[in-house]
Amino acid sequence: MESEFDVFDWLLIQPPYRAFNLGSEIKRAVKAILVCSSTYDAFCPRCGKMSTFKGLLSPTTEDQLLNEKFASKGFGVVPDFWGHTKFSKTIQCTRALHEIDFYFHVDDQTLYKVGQYPSQLEIAKGNFEHYLYVLDKLHLECLNKGLELATYGTGIGSYIYVRKVFEYLIELIHLKAKELPGWDEQKFLTSRFLDKTLMLHEHLPGYLKTNSKILQILGKSLQDLEEEQCLECFNDLKHSVFIMIEEMVLEKKINEAMSPETTKNSSTN
Ligand SMILES: [Zn+2]
Repeated sequence: MESEFDVFDWLLIQPPYRAFNLGSEIKRAVKAILVCSSTYDAFCPRCGKMSTFKGLLSPTTEDQLLNEKFASKGFGVVPDFWGHTKFSKTIQCTRALHEIDFYFHVDDQTLYKVGQYPSQLEIAKGNFEHYLYVLDKLHLECLNKGLELATYGTGIGSYIYVRKVFEYLIELIHLKAKELPGWDEQKFLTSRFLDKTLMLHEHLPGYLKTNSKILQILGKSLQDLEEEQCLECFNDLKHSVFIMIEEMVLEKKINEAMSPETTKNSSTN
């Protein structure tokens, strides 16, 4: 039976130390994680490629499930089997049996993921290899550092790294835009960063253009940045960067496929 909890979101997507206050649902959530045997596609750092992961049941959990079953049959009442305060969960790559371990704490009806191995960053990093189509190595490293700092709840630091990547993308867009008729290069060069970004609005994802939070923070100087605001904007800015890179990768691949060289090569093969 599928769990009503999104177990793989807790395992693979959510950063460590985020608090999930589950109230009276806490024991059902602990059980859902421990008994989860469903599958999920994610990057396997050991395989170096995407794989399907499956939740494993530990021998202790299997015993608990059996005991719970017998107890409910015998006494008609299900005793408390899932009141853990610390527990771990393992998922396994079905391609080559590589494992990822996750560690959880429960504190007063609140669930915390307190650790995992391999790290969340190693798993997330894998999806960015194709970003080298657009980014140079330095900016790919900036993106990774920003994501890493965000998993530790570091607001300003994570924002600055991802903003560097954003500025790099804006410059790539600018280089193309300045070739278009009617472009005011002098105005661009003398504008502040937010105004430069707004001048390129036609080439930006709609998600970014309508996000007042991002536009507000892009207008701030380094000295005016606040930890909380940076943390609050981080996911939105990160998603804008992802969308921009994905669009540029796609455009580059299409241009490569359509180039006369490629057409010539494929017709002679
Ligand atoms: Zn693997």
